[in-house]
Amino acid sequence: MTTSPSRRQEPPFEAALAQHPAFPRFIALKIDVQRRGVHYTPEALRHIDGSVYQLIGDNVFFAALGARDQTTRQVPEALILRDGTTVLTDPTPLEQNPYLVDYRDGHFALVDGGREVEEVDFWEKPDYYGQLTSQGTPMDSIVFARPQRLNITPTAYCHFWKDDQGCKYCDLVPHIQKDGVIKKKLSPKDAYESVREALKQKGRFTTICMTMGSDVKGKIPFDAELDYYIDILQAIGENFPGRKKFPCQIITTAFDAGQLQRLYDQTGVSSWTSDLEVLNEELFKWICPGKEKWVGYREWKKRLVDAVDIFGRGQVNSGIVGGVELARPHGFATEEEALKRTLAEAETLISQGVAVVYIVWVPRPLSYFKDQQNASLDYYIRLAAGLRDLTDKYQLPIDFDDYRRCGNHPNTDLLRAA
Ligand code: SF4
Repeated sequence: MTTSPSRRQEPPFEAALAQHPAFPRFIALKIDVQRRGVHYTPEALRHIDGSVYQLIGDNVFFAALGARDQTTRQVPEALILRDGTTVLTDPTPLEQNPYLVDYRDGHFALVDGGREVEEVDFWEKPDYYGQLTSQGTPMDSIVFARPQRLNITPTAYCHFWKDDQGCKYCDLVPHIQKDGVIKKKLSPKDAYESVREALKQKGRFTTICMTMGSDVKGKIPFDAELDYYIDILQAIGENFPGRKKFPCQIITTAFDAGQLQRLYDQTGVSSWTSDLEVLNEELFKWICPGKEKWVGYREWKKRLVDAVDIFGRGQVNSGIVGGVELARPHGFATEEEALKRTLAEAETLISQGVAVVYIVWVPRPLSYFKDQQNASLDYYIRLAAGLRDLTDKYQLPIDFDDYRRCGNHPNTDLLRAA
């Protein structure tokens, strides 16, 4: 594959940033690195010590979604910039013009066009990595670490793919089928033991996050998904005796009000996320056919708003795949229109207490959108600033999914720069 002419014609990082003098440089750099990906030089690979750093492991969601070059393994799960900004990114073929991660003059560096742009480091490996549960399961295959958060992925399958209705930017199931990495379902006991062990590391983790693919089975669609989450959450909750709630985010399909109430009443989970992915009804129908078939755009939105009554203001949000609204051929024709329409739709949620966070869309080689290109740096900067402004306007807290806890949403990175 060759780099598309439009990518080569983009203004360099510093020139694009110069158009936004009030925007923090580190956060802009994070966005650009996520947009373009990274390539580790042999010298960098030689100096990455797997006994010190957290490397990409067997966790299916990250391994699946971190597969731009489909070959490189054993690289750090994320970069960390000098101001503490975390950058979840993945190895990318050189032909796609990624940043280089090099080792020079005794430190790791981000390099672009031969020039060192920034010094970087990587997340340290948590103490529980490499340990086994009493059932012999590697703890780091079921619970992986963000700097302050434990991420749990109970299963590695999404049932939308059964009738070919997976989301068009997603490569979860094709990746599993290609690599044959289907994991056994996480047992509540393994979840309990892994969290118990992780929490022994003083001062490292402040919250837990759990997500998996959608499961449509059950008397009411998604009852099976809900029941499984409840089992795992109840087991994890045994680590917090005497507490009704513990800091925990769960990212699920859009459950109806009865299901959500059951989730809230029967577990210690304290916040809820359900991802609309793209903030436009027509594009949602095209890009997320499974979500449209089983819930529908308007109903999904309604369930998010209804959830605020259950979980409380500042405890509900929805994720979007930033830039996918420009996917060809049905996406918005220009970045200008995409930004205007996306922010207008985001305001309908934020004004009702549902926060919106974005991740940078990466066209994955095994996804339907594999041949496409994500948006410009300028677009992502304006999207981050626009969402931050709306969050400010409605004074909506978003602490449970911020730069400390998640670190993968440029608009919540901006909250510490306010
Ligand atoms: S709901 Fe969509 S994005 Fe999530 S795992 Fe299923 S296909 Fe992928």
